[in-house]
Amino acid sequence: MSSNQKIYEGKAKILYTTDDPEILLTYFKDDATAFNAQKKGTITGKGKINCTISSYIFKLLEAQSIPTHFIDCPASDKMRVQRVTILPIEVIVRNIAAGSLCRQTGLTEGTILKFPLVEYCYKNDSLQDPLLTRDRLLLLELATPEQLEQIRTFAVKINDILINFFNQCQITLVDFKIEFGLDKHKNLILADEISPDSCRLWDQSQTDPNQRVMDKDRFRRDLGNVETAYQQVLERILAHKG
Ligand code: ADP
Ligand code: MG
Repeated sequence: MSSNQKIYEGKAKILYTTDDPEILLTYFKDDATAFNAQKKGTITGKGKINCTISSYIFKLLEAQSIPTHFIDCPASDKMRVQRVTILPIEVIVRNIAAGSLCRQTGLTEGTILKFPLVEYCYKNDSLQDPLLTRDRLLLLELATPEQLEQIRTFAVKINDILINFFNQCQITLVDFKIEFGLDKHKNLILADEISPDSCRLWDQSQTDPNQRVMDKDRFRRDLGNVETAYQQVLERILAHKG
């Protein structure tokens, strides 16, 4: 990997080319942002923690027939991934009401949803990632109807796998955001990351609504102990023996 060129720097990660045009190197930063980057900060050690957690989860999902972009981790904060064309859709799956769902519907935080709610937002920072309807998504040609169907099927399956996995870590999976891309054969592949930056995770041993938070809401809501919470998630995952 002599010729790593930076091709994109996002809010949490930097993408580099490698000698293989089909492979990218992702560097996970300690930078944290919230509210469409209006709030900025640093979470010490986050890059390594999120890269390690994401890698673990991608391997877990691969083992259950979900295609992911994960290849390997040459360092604890670096992941080699298969290059894909990202669909500009943030796919959100919710099991318990929190965040924007509560703000937009009036549901009380913590309400257990009757079924997993799959939602789509337009991944577009200048428009502030608005919620999409199915027809808007198709109108904008962000995905074909067939791709959308497959995205939904994958999202529900990923949710089932992750609910079960986090439960074994005494963590409740409240909701999460995932991104998909297309490889050169137009196959749909799970990309980006799955980490405490992109999931809401509640500690099952805590009932206090602030104490239980183990994810980026600690940063968003200035709850303190952000690093400790992320580290706890990692430790429970690594202690998990299936
Ligand atoms: P952003 O601020 O846009 O969310 P991030 O800091 O999360 O950016 O950096 C990762 C960027 O790389 C994201 O825009 C994501 O969509 C993109 N990405 C993730 N996985 C891949 C991949 N396998 N191939 C190409 N792009 C990817
Ligand atoms: Mg991102």
